[in-house]
Amino acid sequence: MMRRHKRVKLLAFVAALVGIVGLFGSVAWLLWTSSVSSETHYEGGLAARLGQRTERIIVDARDMLAAFDKLAVPRCSPTHLDALRRASIAHAYIRGIGYWHAARRECGVGFLPPEGLKPAQADRIYSSGVIAWWPSGQTQYGGVQLFIMRYGDHDVAIDPRQLLDLGGIRQRQAELWVEGMRMAATSDHVSLPAPDTLPVGVTVDSRLGQVYSHFAHDRLLPIDVVASEPIENFWGRHAPIIVAGLTLGGLLVALWIGFVLRLSRRQLDPSTDLRRALANRQIGVHYQPVIDLRTQQCVGAEALARWQRKDGSWVSPAVFIPVAEASGLIQDVTLAVMQTVIGDLKRILALAPTISVNLNLSHDDLETERISHALAQHLNASAISAHAIKLEITERALVNSDTARAMIRQLRGRGHAVAIDDFGTGYSSLSYLQSFDLDVLKIDKSFVDAIGTGAATSQVIEHVIDMARSLGLETVAEGVETVEQARWLIDHGVFYVQGYLFSKPLALGEFLEFFRKRQSAAQH
Ligand code: C2E
Ligand code: CA
Ligand code: CA
Repeated sequence: MMRRHKRVKLLAFVAALVGIVGLFGSVAWLLWTSSVSSETHYEGGLAARLGQRTERIIVDARDMLAAFDKLAVPRCSPTHLDALRRASIAHAYIRGIGYWHAARRECGVGFLPPEGLKPAQADRIYSSGVIAWWPSGQTQYGGVQLFIMRYGDHDVAIDPRQLLDLGGIRQRQAELWVEGMRMAATSDHVSLPAPDTLPVGVTVDSRLGQVYSHFAHDRLLPIDVVASEPIENFWGRHAPIIVAGLTLGGLLVALWIGFVLRLSRRQLDPSTDLRRALANRQIGVHYQPVIDLRTQQCVGAEALARWQRKDGSWVSPAVFIPVAEASGLIQDVTLAVMQTVIGDLKRILALAPTISVNLNLSHDDLETERISHALAQHLNASAISAHAIKLEITERALVNSDTARAMIRQLRGRGHAVAIDDFGTGYSSLSYLQSFDLDVLKIDKSFVDAIGTGAATSQVIEHVIDMARSLGLETVAEGVETVEQARWLIDHGVFYVQGYLFSKPLALGEFLEFFRKRQSAAQH
């Protein structure tokens, strides 16, 4: 029993712990990965936002250059230059626009030297039609190394610093790379990993407290943007969902612990065990012989419930009967005992047809018709007379019960003798007892124990015997353990006894054997 309790408690503890760690861990992990992947997939971090903007600018610039080629105006005319100027003013990143005829820059507008920038040779010619000059000493003007891009017959000089817009939030850094060439950085002091050392997407470096992001795309030009921002920015964006998730996780954990507690409480509840024992037919019956002191013959037996566990150990009825009474299972116990007894009665009655077996009833057994019905039915089905079964009812079960009074009358009417058990341990008076129809009074072991000890209780047993006599009740003494007790009882007119002096409660086979031995001893 104890070992099982410990096991259940340990199991509950482990289950709770696994639940907490498992649930909390997986919720946290899920939130973390979904936060990171939402940065990667939906925003791709800071780098993706900057990179997409850069790419849009480059595409817009290319489209603008393509549109100039379609203008139906004489090249380098005031109308032509006017169109170029208007476009140049409209965009902060445009420093100048020029018109080329073959390999010669013919005219242009913007904040550029009058002859335009004409670095010796283009750095790249892409299949998209874009010709590029990287920012360098050759493209420098006004302290800025410009990025020049030609498409068709027009070119545009772009201030690369305008390609990265950090949106005002400080502590962010970004670099724009084109084909392994660093084209722009958000400041002169950026310290960012090179694109080829950082995976594309979002990387959280909790040691440095930074969230790195890397965007790589090739639409008109192969560009890479690498960016970083403090991890607090990341938390700031995901804090609401993480807090909500962890709250949910906490709730789940609380639910789980509640569930484990309820389950283990039910497992620890002794009635759970008893219910299982009833279902598995582990409730058996032992028989304690009732002896007639005058003849030393066995005249009957008391059926006592026995619970044997699978491991062979016995649970005392002094333990499980109170559990059954408290949990509403007592009628099921009584039924189990009754069925066994009636099943055994054929073999018992074969020994002597006048023998009877006492069945113990509890308070609840008398409160409904269930037990009384079942008893009648079983006896009827086995063609056994009601005289073969006597009923023992404790004094406590009778207290304040008119239903019990009526039930006893009914049972006696059908031929069952009724005994009051454990008499003297309760508080009932003679007059109260008189109001019940009874046949037998069982003298409790505590009075028998006092016999010959000179204790105050030793006087009481004489009163109890007198009382039984005045009520016309037969007496049976319980718990007789010594020859002196037996002698005293017979001297005082108590002839029927149970007790270890004669026999402990016995299994059916042992009981039949005990009976036969007594019988043959008397015959010799
Ligand atoms: P009880 O009805 O007073 O049963 C007598 C108890 O005294 C039995 O204990 C029996 O084994 C024990 N006993 C008999 N002779 C001696 C003796 O000489 N010395 C000592 N020390 N003990 C003796 P058990 O079998 O442990 O049953 C305990 C109680 O459990 C019973 O007391 C009865 O109140 C209850 N019980 C047992 N079976 C049933 C049942 O089927 N239904 C109900 N409602 N209660 C039962
Ligand atoms: Ca009894
Ligand atoms: Ca008793």
